[in-house]
Amino acid sequence: MHKLTLDDVDVHGQRVLIRVDFNVPLNTSEDGRPCVGDDTRIRAALPTIRHVLDHGGKAILVSHLGRPGGQPDPDLSLACVADHLGTLIEERVRFSSNTVGETVEEVINGMSDGSVILLENTRFDSGEKTNDTAFSKALASLADVYVNDAFGAAHRAHASTAGVAEFMDVAALGRLMEDEIEALARIRDTPAHPMVAILGGSKVSDKLGTIRALSETADHLLIGGAMSYTFLKMLGHEVGASRVEADRLDTAEELYKQAEGTIALPTDHVVAEAPEAEAEALVVEDDIPEGLMGLDIGPATVDAYRARILDAATVVWNGPMGVFEVDQFADGTTAVAEALADASDDGAFSVVGGGDSVSALTQSGCADRIRHVSTGGGALLAFFEGASLPGVEALTDA
Ligand code: ADP
Ligand code: MG
Repeated sequence: MHKLTLDDVDVHGQRVLIRVDFNVPLNTSEDGRPCVGDDTRIRAALPTIRHVLDHGGKAILVSHLGRPGGQPDPDLSLACVADHLGTLIEERVRFSSNTVGETVEEVINGMSDGSVILLENTRFDSGEKTNDTAFSKALASLADVYVNDAFGAAHRAHASTAGVAEFMDVAALGRLMEDEIEALARIRDTPAHPMVAILGGSKVSDKLGTIRALSETADHLLIGGAMSYTFLKMLGHEVGASRVEADRLDTAEELYKQAEGTIALPTDHVVAEAPEAEAEALVVEDDIPEGLMGLDIGPATVDAYRARILDAATVVWNGPMGVFEVDQFADGTTAVAEALADASDDGAFSVVGGGDSVSALTQSGCADRIRHVSTGGGALLAFFEGASLPGVEALTDA
C-alpha cells in the first residue's frame, strides 16, 4: 500500500481524528427513542478504534449520517450511535453535540489517553459536502493525527473524508480501509481464474462503468435483477411491464457487444403484476407476457448461474437478483448467496458489496462464509471502475 497505515504512526498521547462510516440505518426502540438498526458498519470500525485506544491514543470519531442537507436534524443525530458503540467496546463513549468549535476543542483537551468521543453528524454543517476549507481546518484543529477508516464514503471528496487531510501532518489509512482495498484490489487487479462476476439490482445506469470494467476481467458476467430487462429488451425480447431504462438501450447494446459472450442473461423469470406479497407469481421462459413484470430470476437461470459460480476461483457479487424484500421474489437472490458461500467453502475468493446485496446476504444467513463482505456501495463500484478514491488519495504517502 502506498499510503501511511496505523502501523506507521505512533498514536500514544496523540489526539487521533478517525473518520468512520457510521452511516447506519436507524430504528425506533420500544421506549420511542432512536436506536441503531444494523450495526455492521460500526463493528467494522472496531479494529481501528481498538488499535488507537490500546496504544494510548485519544480517539475522536467523526462521521456523517443520512442526508440532513447541511443543517442540524435531530432525527439524524449520532447520539444513539455513541451509546451503541459504548456497549460494543465496553467503554464509556462520550458524545459531542457539536462537530467543531471551541467547546469541542475544550472537551478534547480534557480527554485522557485511551478514551473515546464521537462528534455530531458532519453533514449538519453545510461545509461537509462542499469540502469547505474553513470546515476542513476546523476539523483538523481538533487533532494531531488523521485516520480515514470510512471506506463507504471514500469515493466522496468531502471535508471530513478528504479536505481535512490537507491540514494534517499525518493522515493514514485505517484497518477497515486497508482490508477493503486489499480484498477489492484482488478482484480488480489480480483475480484468479475462472472469475465470475454477478451484477444485479435496480438500474443499469448506476453500474455501467462497473459492468464495463468487470466484463473485461471476468470470464463470466451473470446479470440479474431489474437491469436484465434493459439488456433483454435491447436483444429484442418481450419484457412485459418489467423495469426498463429506455434511454440506456444503446449503451446496453454497446456493452453487450464489447463483452463478446461474457455476459449471461436470465432465461426464465418469476413474474407478477406487481412486486407485492399478495400478487400471484408464476415462472415464464424467454418472453414475459404483457402486463407482467420480471421480479426474480427463474429456477433454470438459478441452476445455470449456480454452476458457473461453483466453478469459479474468484467470485464477486453486487446487486440482488430480484425484489428480495418480498419473500416470493427472493429465491434467486438467496440461491446466489448460497452458491457464493458454497464456492467459498471450496476455496474460491469471494466478495459481496452493496447496501441491499449485503442485507440480502445477511438475510440468507450465509454472510460469515463469504471471504470479504464490503461496507461499500458507491465506493465499491467506483473502485471497480478504476476511479481514484478521494478519501484515499488525500492521505499521506508512505
Ligand atoms: P445494491 O444496494 O446492493 O447495490 P441496488 O440498490 O442496485 O443494490 O438494487 C437493489 C434494489 O433492486 C432492491 O430494492 C430490489 O428490490 C431491486 N430490484 C431487483 N430486481 C428487481 C426487479 N426485477 N424489478 C424491480 N426492482 C428490482
Ligand atoms: Mg441499493
